[in-house]
Amino acid sequence: MEVDVLVIGGGSTGSSVAYHLCSEGAGKVMLVERSNIAWGQTGRSTAVVRLHYSTPEVAKMALESWRFLKDMEPRLGKPSGFRAVGFIILAGENELEGLRRNVEMQRSIGINTKLLEPEEVKQLIPQMNVDDLAGAAYEPESGYADPVTTAQSLAEAAKELGCVVKTNTEVRGFEVRDGRIELVKTTAGDFKVNQVVNATGVWTNVINGMLGIDLPVEV
Ligand SMILES: Cc1cc2nc3c(=O)[nH]c(=O)nc-3n(C[C@H](O)[C@H](O)[C@H](O)COP(=O)(O)OP(=O)(O)OC[C@H]3O[C@@H](n4cnc5c(N)ncnc54)[C@H](O)[C@@H]3O)c2cc1C
Repeated sequence: MEVDVLVIGGGSTGSSVAYHLCSEGAGKVMLVERSNIAWGQTGRSTAVVRLHYSTPEVAKMALESWRFLKDMEPRLGKPSGFRAVGFIILAGENELEGLRRNVEMQRSIGINTKLLEPEEVKQLIPQMNVDDLAGAAYEPESGYADPVTTAQSLAEAAKELGCVVKTNTEVRGFEVRDGRIELVKTTAGDFKVNQVVNATGVWTNVINGMLGIDLPVEV
């Protein structure tokens, strides 16, 4: 079989990439997962969906992901696993200035977050002892996800859009010509490809190693 884009790894990243490629009309897309969807980090994740990050680049990516998750059910017709129960991050005296800076930056890019005084935290969570608390940041629309549901829904939605989803299929190697991957070798056969997305998370360098690529990334 010949595919336009072969995505390696059926975690939240690969499933999302496969879905978005299909919905953008990227041609014949294949998602290859060596175990089951969400078997890797995704299925073991606490999956807190928060927007509290300290750099605008990461905060913007988190905001885009949150927007997608929030609207995923009506858009895909499948459960997102996301529950907006709110998210709070606490700060002692030493952390308060950093927290304030983060919240200011996050608000400037459109994130719904605000600083709370200890008394406001007490109102929100009466059981909490706020004696040592200097402040907190509160995101009323953040929460957590069931990451297995999220990834499975994305993979199923991709499939409905024509994606070939191959689970229990491991990528074992590649054939490269003139610096381009021509063939992906898997335990379910070889596939001619135009492009490959490596979405294997902590196994990224194993795949890179098959291609002789040495990225200075360590886990
Ligand atoms: C304990 C824990 C708590 C976490 N808590 C949070 C949190 O609260 N909030 C948050 O945002 N993030 C959290 N994370 C991080 C988050 O879970 C990961 O960033 C995310 O799940 C990564 O998804 P992924 O798709 O990139 O990787 P993975 O889910 O690991 O997917 C990679 C997939 O690639 C497959 N694969 C590998 N090699 C091959 C091969 N050769 N052929 C075919 N398939 C292959 C694997 O089987 C795997 O399924 C947490 C992670 C852990 C472990």
